[in-house]
Amino acid sequence: MSDSRVIVIGAGVAGLCCALELSEGGFDVEVFDRGRALGDGACSWMAGGMLAPWCERATTDPAVATLGAPSIDWWLKRFSGTGRNGSLVVAQPRDAAELTRFADRTERFEWLDADGIGKLEPDLAGRFRRALFFADEAHLEPRRALPALAALLEKRGVAIRFGVELSPSQARDQADIVVDCRGLAARDVLPDLRGVRGEMVVIRSRDVTLSRPVRMLHPRIPLYIVPRGEGVFMIGATMIESDARGGPSVRSTVELLNAAYALHPAFGEAEILEVNADVRPAFPDNLPAVRGGPHMYRVNGLFRHGFLLAPAMARQLAETIIDGMAGLKVETGDADFRQRRSA
Ligand SMILES: Cc1cc2nc3c(=O)[nH]c(=O)nc-3n(C[C@H](O)[C@H](O)[C@H](O)COP(=O)(O)OP(=O)(O)OC[C@H]3O[C@@H](n4cnc5c(N)ncnc54)[C@H](O)[C@@H]3O)c2cc1C
Repeated sequence: MSDSRVIVIGAGVAGLCCALELSEGGFDVEVFDRGRALGDGACSWMAGGMLAPWCERATTDPAVATLGAPSIDWWLKRFSGTGRNGSLVVAQPRDAAELTRFADRTERFEWLDADGIGKLEPDLAGRFRRALFFADEAHLEPRRALPALAALLEKRGVAIRFGVELSPSQARDQADIVVDCRGLAARDVLPDLRGVRGEMVVIRSRDVTLSRPVRMLHPRIPLYIVPRGEGVFMIGATMIESDARGGPSVRSTVELLNAAYALHPAFGEAEILEVNADVRPAFPDNLPAVRGGPHMYRVNGLFRHGFLLAPAMARQLAETIIDGMAGLKVETGDADFRQRRSA
């Protein structure tokens, strides 16, 4: 494999995971990104970093849980900042029916009463009557996880060249295999890719401590709060069918901040550190895919599951390329490829 030169375009979570899997598989890999530094212009920089395959069952295809569950171990192995403390799901008493509906659509949780909630998150004691606890889920801080992947790549001798805008055909002139991980910018070759805008707020509070992501269910605006350590919390995220990359709207910002306030009034005194937005790349079925081959692959459509599903997509890509080189029949294009392959 080491004779095969691979160029990965894009140093978002998809590009970095693919570069790492291919380098670990023995390929000679180089990564190019048009941003000036890691995260510059990447949707991955805005993510909440929740690794929540079972919670996501509430609104997504079962393939997300099947493909996403092994990613938790993938991250634990590669990024020591990955926290596996589970996820907590709560709702205001008037939205209690939302909790039951969420429970009906998900798996691998336990019901907690008010005492159980207080034991798990002392600062939420007395605030909610019931909650769902998904003990096996994890979370990470994307702005620490991406540099950790970049450091692993550097150790393996994989260069990441910033400030270079490459088209897939330009890259193909310089490499045996090109992996296009340009996120939403790949719409020039993936016409069914669309944008789903997400807005987020980062705050700092010295008065509230949480040990795990907390989801607040609401019939219209379900939101979550992810602790980032040292009193910093990310509140996310809206889901708007739009590819507009401008700043967050007043309405979204108010709704995000309201969710934090509803979770704990002490968040009312928090300092606002950042209000931001980006656009998630999504295919019509909201599932990611590895497309193309044998010299040009596209890994895209990670939607709201970039950190959860990029490791599975990267592994699928590496296996597809290696099988292709071994002369085996390869099939790409759908998210349950790995399941069918091993069936
Ligand atoms: C507010 C918000 C919250 C989210 N929360 C979560 C979460 O909790 N958990 C989760 O798993 N996912 C989450 N996501 C989704 C996740 O962020 C995306 O699925 C993921 O970032 C997509 O990654 P990507 O690598 O495909 O694209 P990107 O991160 O956008 O990376 C694409 C890269 O390609 C580069 N590029 C583009 N064109 C070129 C070119 N021609 N030449 C060179 N470089 C180029 C760009 O500079 C960029 O760095 C969230 C998203 C948002 C917006």
